[in-house]
Amino acid sequence: MPNLSFVSPTRNSPWGTYLSQIDAVEPYLGHLARWVETLRRPKRALIVDVPIELDNGTIAHFEGYRVQHSLTRGPGKGGVRYHPDVTLEEVMALSAWMTIKNAAVNLPYGGAKGGIRLDPKTLSKKELEKVTRRYTSEIGIIIGPQQDIPAPDVNTNGQIMAWMMDTYSMNTGATATGVVTGKPIPLGGSLGRVAATGRGVFVIGREAMRRLNIQMEGARIAVQGFGNVGSIAAKLFAANGARIVAVQDHTGTILNEKGFDMQNLLDHVAQTGGVAGFKGGDAIANADFWKVKSDVLVPAALEGQITAERAQGLQTRLVLEGANGPTTPDGDQVLSDRGIVVVPDVIANSGGVTVSYFEWVQDFSSFFWTEDEINVRLDKIITGAFKHIWETSEQHRINLRTAAFVVACTRVLEAREERGLYP
Ligand code: NAD
Repeated sequence: MPNLSFVSPTRNSPWGTYLSQIDAVEPYLGHLARWVETLRRPKRALIVDVPIELDNGTIAHFEGYRVQHSLTRGPGKGGVRYHPDVTLEEVMALSAWMTIKNAAVNLPYGGAKGGIRLDPKTLSKKELEKVTRRYTSEIGIIIGPQQDIPAPDVNTNGQIMAWMMDTYSMNTGATATGVVTGKPIPLGGSLGRVAATGRGVFVIGREAMRRLNIQMEGARIAVQGFGNVGSIAAKLFAANGARIVAVQDHTGTILNEKGFDMQNLLDHVAQTGGVAGFKGGDAIANADFWKVKSDVLVPAALEGQITAERAQGLQTRLVLEGANGPTTPDGDQVLSDRGIVVVPDVIANSGGVTVSYFEWVQDFSSFFWTEDEINVRLDKIITGAFKHIWETSEQHRINLRTAAFVVACTRVLEAREERGLYP
């Protein structure tokens, strides 16, 4: 299995999963298959040492990465993750999925991702700022508004993006708003960015339901993860007539056959930090979440949630992947065998990177759009991308994940072929 000397992927590990997805797409690439090996290796992977002086006076070293999987269609684009489990292999896979996501939606970007192996809960705000600034300086040799544009991911946010933008600007001697997206509004951030991923999940869900003849009015929706992505998607589904019948987060699982009162649930989570203890529904065992009868299941929490075993028991018609990588390859196979449609993450959660693209465009033109303009353009772009992927899946009789890869890899490899090999 290993195709590179510096990682040892397994079947269900992130890079191993990505490689098997590329294997699945290869038969549909026609003459472009000649170039497919390009996709099985990152263009560039930078490993950096990030030393800082802690508040107690000792020196700590953290390992950081920035991987540019592909720059064929444009600058790199992808988030930065702070997590104790971050590895080069994981960042490579995440960067490759960004190549696929950006090409599937036809955004003019390649794919990149970054990360630092640390637990942000153990650092003070000052220490977090030092780590962020040193990391930004270290990867400063490969990022830039025209080279590679980071954004928030797990455990990073607008504040981290503000420090990154400031550090890069200080090092280059000019204010460079376009070097990162997901920035606070006063620094050139975009309206609608915070809600964009959840909104995109809803928009793509609405389109998939239409194709599958699932009525929005009264549809039963189950959501795992009630953070940024899950709560906003749930709110929009409910506002459009669907019923949110089950919600699970890290505090527990709740059920209400009639559908939750969303405002009350959002208020409860804002006050208590989770869905557990919500009076407007019944608590159920976490394992039973995967057996709740629904029309649409939205995993919007973590990777690897829909395993083969859970997939066997699911009682739903449509899985809408809000999270990145929530279905394991084995789980995917079971869902496919059972005829449960899966809308893959690369299209279902592409609303975030699409509005990041809008932010970057607005920064370059120094002209900012209204939230309505952003939402209308978001809807148009991702709806069009979904239609193309759906039609590709019908044309080749393949599932939507492979279809999204066919659309994306074809775009990347066509660009590769047109550019030719240098020198
Ligand atoms: P978040 O931190 O706002 O929310 C995460 C949610 O998952 C929380 O409700 C948390 O309670 C829940 N959760 C954590 N552990 C859990 C567990 N063991 N069981 C059940 N629930 C658990 O994160 P987010 O921004 O909403 O991101 C969620 C997913 O969406 C991630 O996979 C992320 O990579 C992906 N994603 C996010 C964005 C974005 O713009 N925020 C964009 C693309 C993809």
